[in-house]
Amino acid sequence: MIQSQLIFWVGCVSALLVGPLMADELLERDGRYIHLTTDLASAEEAESLVASFDAAITQWIQFWNLEDDAITNLKVEACVIRNKAEFTRRGLIPAKVPDFPFGYAQGNKVWVFAQQSEYYTRHLLLHEGAHSLAYHLFDGAGPTWFQEGSAELLATHHGKDLDIAVNRIPLSRDDAPFWGRFKRMNQAREQSQVPTFETVLGYQPNLTGDVATYSWSWAACMMLSVYPEYRPAFLAAARNGQETGPLFNRQLQTALGNQWPILAARWRLTCNDIDYGFDWNREQVNLSAKDPIWDGNDLRIQIQPDRGWQSCGVRIPRGAKIRVTAEGEITLADQPKPWVSQPPGITFQYHRGRPLGQLQLCLLPNAHDPQAVRLEPLKIQGIDDQPILSVPQYSWLLFRVNDSFGELKDNRGSYQVTLQRAR
Ligand SMILES: [Zn+2]
Repeated sequence: MIQSQLIFWVGCVSALLVGPLMADELLERDGRYIHLTTDLASAEEAESLVASFDAAITQWIQFWNLEDDAITNLKVEACVIRNKAEFTRRGLIPAKVPDFPFGYAQGNKVWVFAQQSEYYTRHLLLHEGAHSLAYHLFDGAGPTWFQEGSAELLATHHGKDLDIAVNRIPLSRDDAPFWGRFKRMNQAREQSQVPTFETVLGYQPNLTGDVATYSWSWAACMMLSVYPEYRPAFLAAARNGQETGPLFNRQLQTALGNQWPILAARWRLTCNDIDYGFDWNREQVNLSAKDPIWDGNDLRIQIQPDRGWQSCGVRIPRGAKIRVTAEGEITLADQPKPWVSQPPGITFQYHRGRPLGQLQLCLLPNAHDPQAVRLEPLKIQGIDDQPILSVPQYSWLLFRVNDSFGELKDNRGSYQVTLQRAR
């Protein structure tokens, strides 16, 4: 702040000497759906923001399952700001706009602070723009979790300009510098502070820009929008955007009906895993409340290394003792030479502290406590740790191969897993 004021002052002095006031000029760029005013130093970045925003809007319209002509007369008046005092002095931030840490949207007007990376500035502009679009299309953006979660969902992206693709999880930290959502989610996991789905639904409005609140809201909206069985309820909820009270959640819960316990179980897995490169096409988990109870007879299943958690298709009763054995071979990569792994994994390469290629298992409880505030962390174990499994409560038994989320697609082969009753 001090530094930019100094530059401004120096600019004024030189202007007195040499003519027009240059340091003081704001850049303005006009697009189809956005008019941008900014004090960014780079005209190229300003133009890129406009191009990215216009390209994003058509993708948002498709995301909300609307026709291309759903937008009538929307022009978002956006300020991307480095020096807030200057925008205030020019009347570009009206007094009625509250203090905001990152960005703020009011109708078709949005204000965003320029960040330390172009990615994050673009993310915030898209986030606020997604609010504007919700006001335009649906007369509101719903309660906090839905409002912030869907804006985050439509703001996360790959690429920029005409090549931007929205609703994409960044592949690596280098792709999204300073964005920090997964860093915050990892902290919550380490501190056992991961909220239940119900906690997220109950988030109250706040203007502190709390990254954790935004991140879990984003995860909830992602989950509701990717599973085909939840998606219609999610899209219907958006159309209910003028409702910001408890009625919004009640209608969503009614629409999802008896799918709630499965959703809650999937939420536990998602929250345990989600990270850079997470690919929903591979990470949707097949679970059903109608899965039969395991009868104790030997059960053989194949575990694919290019998918996330895979259920063995039965629910394991409380008190069961299971011997788990696994065999087979998978290939995790071909470069510089084939990386072949067996169920214990490759002990010279690790992901999340466990050998790459290791077969992992997880007991996912069937029961769901709607009153809980935080999630009980899941116990994930490698196949080597404990071949005999004691099951304390009715649970699904799931397996996956340990690998980075963005590295699953070239994996091949499979592990054959056998469950036997242990005595
Ligand atoms: Zn927001």
